[in-house]
Amino acid sequence: MASSSSIHVAVIGAGIVGAAAAHFLAAAGARVTLLDASGPAAGATGASDGAVSVASKRPGPMMDLARHARAFYVRSERDGLFRGLFHRRSTFLVARTAIEADLVAQHGADLAAVGERVVEISRTALLDRIPGLGASVCAALEIPDDGHALGYEITERLLHKSGVSIRRNAPVSEIVMRAGRVGGVAIRNELLAADAVLVAAGIGSAPLLGLGEILIPRKGQMVVTDRASTAGPAIDGHLMAASYLAAKRGIVRDNAHIGLVIDPLMTGQFLIGGSREDHRSDHATDAVTIAAILREALDLYPPLAGRRVLRSFAGVRTASRDGLPIVGLHPYREGVVIATGFEGDGICLGPFMGACAARLLLGEKPETDLSALSPQRFARVEAHA
Ligand SMILES: Cc1cc2nc3c(=O)[nH]c(=O)nc-3n(C[C@H](O)[C@H](O)[C@H](O)COP(=O)(O)OP(=O)(O)OC[C@H]3O[C@@H](n4cnc5c(N)ncnc54)[C@H](O)[C@@H]3O)c2cc1C
Repeated sequence: MASSSSIHVAVIGAGIVGAAAAHFLAAAGARVTLLDASGPAAGATGASDGAVSVASKRPGPMMDLARHARAFYVRSERDGLFRGLFHRRSTFLVARTAIEADLVAQHGADLAAVGERVVEISRTALLDRIPGLGASVCAALEIPDDGHALGYEITERLLHKSGVSIRRNAPVSEIVMRAGRVGGVAIRNELLAADAVLVAAGIGSAPLLGLGEILIPRKGQMVVTDRASTAGPAIDGHLMAASYLAAKRGIVRDNAHIGLVIDPLMTGQFLIGGSREDHRSDHATDAVTIAAILREALDLYPPLAGRRVLRSFAGVRTASRDGLPIVGLHPYREGVVIATGFEGDGICLGPFMGACAARLLLGEKPETDLSALSPQRFARVEAHA
């Protein structure tokens, strides 16, 4: 690979992952062209919640990576890059049945096993923290070290601080290979020459990489309320129902298409979500799904009945077939790095993963072991497809 001062990298996708990679590439002296079919944060990054949460992660590589990624936010807040955009706050994992209580307890044990602080909290103590909590809540754990950031604000900050210029309305149709290694990308009738290419195009990565069988769109609908407070978050933490954990841990339930979270935003509003609709890549919201989300939310936190619903929206997560992101060197296209498949975790993981992808593009070792995410694990499948 060329030295970082002379290398030209084409980054496909100006979501949180592409923006972070572009930022850290530019900081290392690379020349970067950031391309987006639409504009910054036009994909999932601009239509999501912003839980920077270890509490929500499946045990294994995701939980480990989320701990690195959250620490990266904490560092970046401290050193100024994310100042004012990342906010520490607790996640409360809440159960409403005995089966859910078992699941929450198991999850708490898994979190504690990786060194995460986990605090058991009685219903009475939780009611003191969150007055009005639903009568059905029977058990809860507090994970005190989580946080929150809005994906589009982080993306904007990364781009602003790096000075990387972005080409909007630039849909890449092909990665062009020359004599066995990458030569650039095709945008409509234009060939943009590049020494290396990062594919960070969310669900748009599937056609570019021939991963239609491996990456699936998973739509999520969410609701935004009016302000319940004019002095910061209306409640003292993020409420995450066991239904969300069950979805993350691959446990199928009756209402598996809803993983309930109630997120108190800095604005005093609530962000409530969300549905998990596989193979749906449209952005429509519908009354049946929104009603189901609100029914669950009212059961968990009845004071929401006094709020006005300002709007609903939908975003599209990019899920991989085995539930792990795909990050690493392309198995047989030299000079191409992939960073996609972040499903409902890319706001948490995105900045750290973008920084790791930048290092891979520069021929350096990433800050942590990414072997569990290697694209190589699908290479055999793709080669035989
Ligand atoms: C409802 C919902 C709630 C969520 N809540 C959370 C949460 O609480 N915490 C969390 O960590 N994560 C959450 N997520 C997940 C998170 O939003 C995503 O994982 C993350 O935004 C993915 O970022 P990305 O940069 O990989 O992709 P994207 O943000 O999708 O960006 C991809 C970009 O690539 C561009 N593109 C696509 N194809 C091409 C092409 N051919 N040429 C050029 N450009 C192209 C698109 O226009 C887009 O701008 C949520 C997602 C949804 C939908």
